[in-house]
Amino acid sequence: MSKKLFVETLGCAMNSRDSEHMIAELREKENYEVIDDFTEADLILINTCSVRERPVHKLFSELGGFNKKKKPGAKIGVCGCTASHLGEEILKRAPYVSFVLGARNVSKITEVLHKDKAVEIDINYDESEFAFKDFRSSPFKGFINISIGCDKACTFCIVPKTRGDEVSIPDSLIIREAKRLVDSGAKEIFLLGQNVNNYGRRFSGEHEKVNFTELLRRLSKIEKLQRIRFTSPHPFHMDDEFIQEFSTNPKICKSMHMPLQSGSNKVLKDMKRGYTKEWFINRVQMLKSMCPEATISTDIIVGFPGESDEDFQDSIDVMRQVEFDQIFSFKYSPRPETEAEHFTNVVDEEVASQRLNELQKLNNEIIDKKHSGLIGTTYEVYFETLNRDNFVAGRSNNNRVIRVDGSEELLGQFRNVKIIDIGRTILTGEIVA
Ligand code: SF4
Repeated sequence: MSKKLFVETLGCAMNSRDSEHMIAELREKENYEVIDDFTEADLILINTCSVRERPVHKLFSELGGFNKKKKPGAKIGVCGCTASHLGEEILKRAPYVSFVLGARNVSKITEVLHKDKAVEIDINYDESEFAFKDFRSSPFKGFINISIGCDKACTFCIVPKTRGDEVSIPDSLIIREAKRLVDSGAKEIFLLGQNVNNYGRRFSGEHEKVNFTELLRRLSKIEKLQRIRFTSPHPFHMDDEFIQEFSTNPKICKSMHMPLQSGSNKVLKDMKRGYTKEWFINRVQMLKSMCPEATISTDIIVGFPGESDEDFQDSIDVMRQVEFDQIFSFKYSPRPETEAEHFTNVVDEEVASQRLNELQKLNNEIIDKKHSGLIGTTYEVYFETLNRDNFVAGRSNNNRVIRVDGSEELLGQFRNVKIIDIGRTILTGEIVA
């Protein structure tokens, strides 16, 4: 009889891939099957995020809810970034939790399962060459980690403290995983790393030094593979060779996530981002001139300690110059064990909220203007999800989310779709071929 497993994943795509890894190990080695109802589960896993304070608060209220309604004898395991930085404290605050497994120790899931009150959170543990069993949430596309950890020291970011130093995964393992995905029918792969375009700087063993652009070239040689996406590249590592390959390689999807964080050189310096407003704009201009159809998304923080009105207006200025196709914007959230946590020139909460509203209002205006020009445009869409109300949705090559009337036969298929209606996050179209 297989045991029942319920997994809740918070946070980023890397957490989603880590959850798939844990499910694969538990299915293959412990005979678990995934279910959707945690009250029926023998094991409940919550894969956590620590990028801002709110997800951490949410964790303990959720744990309380799981504990109240879980099946007698069921275990609860806390994994991910909050596990890495809170460790033992989670067992103190939630004594009914069975184990704590850090974001860098995913491969130990079957070990901690059999130890009571295990806390495995070593952020220097190296599982970059661990051959995980295979499990995929979608048969149409697959996430592939190309590195673990991060070598940067952005002063606001907790990730280096929860995911450890950056180690690249050998290209042979990445290519093998991509081939396995394509052989199982997927036409798209999504490469993941904190700084994908810093790939190849350090491996745990002796490996050929391959940089990200070369990795993309090698993956593109996989015959039946049609689309390659990736996140996150770091603006600092956006050299000409990378932008050239991105623009000219037909298999690389023409959407680029470029985390700006701030448009002010003073704030970028305080954040230790390593680039300037001018460099960022220069990279965008090169990208747009070489690849006009490319869409660009970004991350922006407002209210970082010391951010003046002028600094904030620099962020607004970059938005006006670039006209991003999507932004992820947040008020600064002090994180433990980060340099900025101790910065004293804190921005007033009310001021930060006003800036966030102004930034998001401008973003909506830009998106509405851009999308209004898309009516009648035809995109090649790869259908991945079946929505309620008989809509099937997918993405264009340049990452526009598009839905059409249709049913599951379309899933995993490419079709040309003409846009007939627009929204801020999703476009509606009709199939033309
Ligand atoms: S590059 Fe900076 S923001 Fe990104 S994960 Fe690393 S430290 Fe965090």
